[in-house]
Amino acid sequence: MYAPPIQRLIAEFSKLPGVGGRTAQRLAFHLLRGSDEDARALADAIREVKERIGLCEVCYNLADGPTCRICADERRDPELICVVEEPSDVISIERTHEFRGRYHVLGGALSPIDGVDPEDLKIAELYERVQTGGVREVVIATNPTTTGEATALHIATGVRERVPGIAVTRLASGLPVGADLEYADELTLGRALVGRRAV
Ligand SMILES: [Zn+2]
Repeated sequence: MYAPPIQRLIAEFSKLPGVGGRTAQRLAFHLLRGSDEDARALADAIREVKERIGLCEVCYNLADGPTCRICADERRDPELICVVEEPSDVISIERTHEFRGRYHVLGGALSPIDGVDPEDLKIAELYERVQTGGVREVVIATNPTTTGEATALHIATGVRERVPGIAVTRLASGLPVGADLEYADELTLGRALVGRRAV
């Protein structure tokens, strides 16, 4: 129906989350109508983010160098590690201003049905961090979903097995069950952090 370059652009937009065929088409035509400069700026931004942003070698958060800004910040408490599923969860927790420790980003949640096993996540890396010593508490802030809860349990057991004296806590209830952290409002998430309980 369209010339191959247009078809290709629509196909690429369709791969984005929440973008259906019609929206993909609308975006493609929006770019075609717009200036060359705007289209190039978008293409450059996409290229730059893929070239310059990688994962922090300590916590696996997004970083534009070897370590992320949080790991590089010496004022952050290194004895407190908050474990989250995705880099976007770091942003959600930072917005509450209730957490002054460091993070560990797993890169997802355990889901054997979908083929996500412990070795697919940064779990061994977390164990290595806590075993190195100097960590007094691991706050598990995976999503309050089935896969998030299963991941929390797996990690709590694994951490305690390796470092018996360590405190392992989970965000307090009050978070909407079944939803992702990024949809929780700052106040609810902040309260869940302050009221975290041992697991
Ligand atoms: Zn980091």
